[in-house]
Amino acid sequence: MPISFDLTGKTAIVTGANTGLGQAISVALAQAGADVALVGRSSMAETEAAVSAAGGRSLAIQADLSTLEPVDRVISETVAWTGRADILVNNAGIIRRADAIDFTEADWDAVMDVNLKTVFFLSQAFARRLITEGKGGKIVNIASLLSFQGGIRIPSYTASKSGLAGLTRLLACEWAGKGINVNAIAPGYFSTNNTEALRNDPDRNAAILSRIPAGHWGQPEELGGAAVFLASPASDYVHGVVLPVDGGWLAR
Ligand code: NAP
Repeated sequence: MPISFDLTGKTAIVTGANTGLGQAISVALAQAGADVALVGRSSMAETEAAVSAAGGRSLAIQADLSTLEPVDRVISETVAWTGRADILVNNAGIIRRADAIDFTEADWDAVMDVNLKTVFFLSQAFARRLITEGKGGKIVNIASLLSFQGGIRIPSYTASKSGLAGLTRLLACEWAGKGINVNAIAPGYFSTNNTEALRNDPDRNAAILSRIPAGHWGQPEELGGAAVFLASPASDYVHGVVLPVDGGWLAR
């Protein structure tokens, strides 16, 4: 069998698809042939247009992922659309910045709920359906360099992304034997809303840039190849990895 990155006939669910990395991943999966359910709390119009321009099909699903309310609905609305759900990209995430000494319970809970709790229960709902139907599938979690490093002033973000790396490994161990691949991508420093505060701070911006061997902030499109790989048959024997896409940051 030739190695295949083809997603024709597959349906992908991407959370936080309206902007940034989620938008770029949605377009990349569509370019590889997948139908893409775009999940989030904001208008998906921009991503719908980009997927369509790439020759793909998409469905917008309105969902605030700070609670578990939409979890079952995201799966059922996707399946009602194409009859299937093969790929889940857990991309939606938030960050709150403050010194650890001042960090509030509200900033702790908000980040953990979106970045970890909903990711787990959405993955569970997705996998339950696949297992009931006796089918395989792909889960791609969007982790972070903070899955490997400590960082500063982002205690709940680091806890959530380090937790997500562990959760990726645990789910891989439980579900690999059922044909479900669970892996993660750890983006380095990408130019999105999430990192706007860093890029606007001249000192932090210069410090970050000076450590990136590739010499530039990641552009969201530069994440697409890794997402397609982990969503495609080419990665069928890859389980439980956290794949850095970081311009060489961790190699320094
Ligand atoms: P972003 O532009 O801020 O995108 C975050 C996405 O998550 C948006 O679509 C946002 O929707 C969505 N989201 C947040 N809270 C949500 C909620 N309660 N319900 C539904 N959707 C929600 O940042 P990004 O950089 O593309 O981030 C995407 C993922 O990559 C995140 O998990 C982030 O932690 C991770 N990451 C980013 C970087 C980087 O350098 N940019 C590095 C490592 C990891 P709204 O637009 O409606 O808020």
